[in-house]
Amino acid sequence: MATLALKGVRKEYGKSVVALKGLDLDIGDGEFFVLLGPSGAGKTTTLKCVAGLEQPTLGHVEIGGLDVSNIEPNARKVAMAFENYALYPQETVYDNIAFPLRSRRYYREPGEAQSIIERVTTTLGINHLLQRLPRELSGGQKQRVALARVLVRPADVLLLDEPLSHLDAKLRAAMRAELKSLGELQSTTSLYVTHDYLEALALGDRIAVLNEGELVQVGTREEIWHRPVNTFVAKAFGQPQINLVEGEVIPGHDGPRFHGANGAVDLPMHGFDVTPGRKVITGMRPRDLVMDAKPGMAHIKGSVWVTEPLGRQQEVTLEAGGQHIAVITPLSSLAIGDTVTISVPVSRILLFDAESGQRIPAKDDAAGAARPIAEMEVSRG
Ligand code: ADP
Ligand code: MG
Repeated sequence: MATLALKGVRKEYGKSVVALKGLDLDIGDGEFFVLLGPSGAGKTTTLKCVAGLEQPTLGHVEIGGLDVSNIEPNARKVAMAFENYALYPQETVYDNIAFPLRSRRYYREPGEAQSIIERVTTTLGINHLLQRLPRELSGGQKQRVALARVLVRPADVLLLDEPLSHLDAKLRAAMRAELKSLGELQSTTSLYVTHDYLEALALGDRIAVLNEGELVQVGTREEIWHRPVNTFVAKAFGQPQINLVEGEVIPGHDGPRFHGANGAVDLPMHGFDVTPGRKVITGMRPRDLVMDAKPGMAHIKGSVWVTEPLGRQQEVTLEAGGQHIAVITPLSSLAIGDTVTISVPVSRILLFDAESGQRIPAKDDAAGAARPIAEMEVSRG
């Protein structure tokens, strides 16, 4: 085990591509750290720089406090599972996974190797496939075999590049839960790359959001969810996406109000230090909104635009003042075009500056960041 740090890591490919623009990260010993970002953000490049498969153009990587710039990849005690795996086509699944444990470097007695392999493959749900050849496996199964081969060997740092990306949604949800139970992942410093926000929320002790080679935010799942630094992070977490409504702060008889969507969205702003005239964006998560007019809450009137069942719940999209607003509610009979009122718990409103997209802190900012995340308690089957 070891700490892992990136110090001002910049990576250029040729003259025109800057994949990383000076990354600083400090990952604790034994921490499970998730790097989340869209395709092209620089996630794989980050892992390659740590593994030594690419040299940073500027900056360096430290493992266990030691600058590893001059240490060859195979001497770094780093194990990396690639997004695009390669298995030995002539060997069984068992032999593919056992391969590192038969090498001189990671040698284990056959009986010991077998019990490690059984444990890891059971967790990954591939223990019934051990005698098959790679060509007899689906893409998702092959990916888990490749992951197992990385997990069975000891390493100071584990690098996992979208290891569940080839699995279907249901299996991916199951694997998210299983992966956390693996001792290998609990005890090894891990840098896990994904573009799936649910994976990041479920697995990460901390999460870093990467975009265009730059870190946008680093924090706990609650900080990222309740206190996103800007609209990019707010939009990156949540399905359906957070509702963002552009508007302006206007004076009201009991303090400033938010006025947006041609007046259809009118919300009190007493939770924020904002003055009339400021152009802002409000953010409301679909699961925080409540169908019907509840006392003590702000209200938005709209008409039903689309409804879509989600298990025991439904996603209702309203049209309000030319703006679409998504709400997750219990199943009920709603017809397209019905006029409805939704309630907004005022304490859940996020506010952003319209120009910069940066979040405007709430007066009770510290308190709000500790709330649990409703989305994670919802079964998505
Ligand atoms: P991610 O893994 O987040 O999808 P990558 O790290 O693979 O992103 O890529 C980051 C950027 O660097 C992309 O614009 C990609 O096209 C570019 N890139 C990655 N590898 C190379 C390479 N070997 N040569 C040139 N450009 C590359
Ligand atoms: Mg990648």
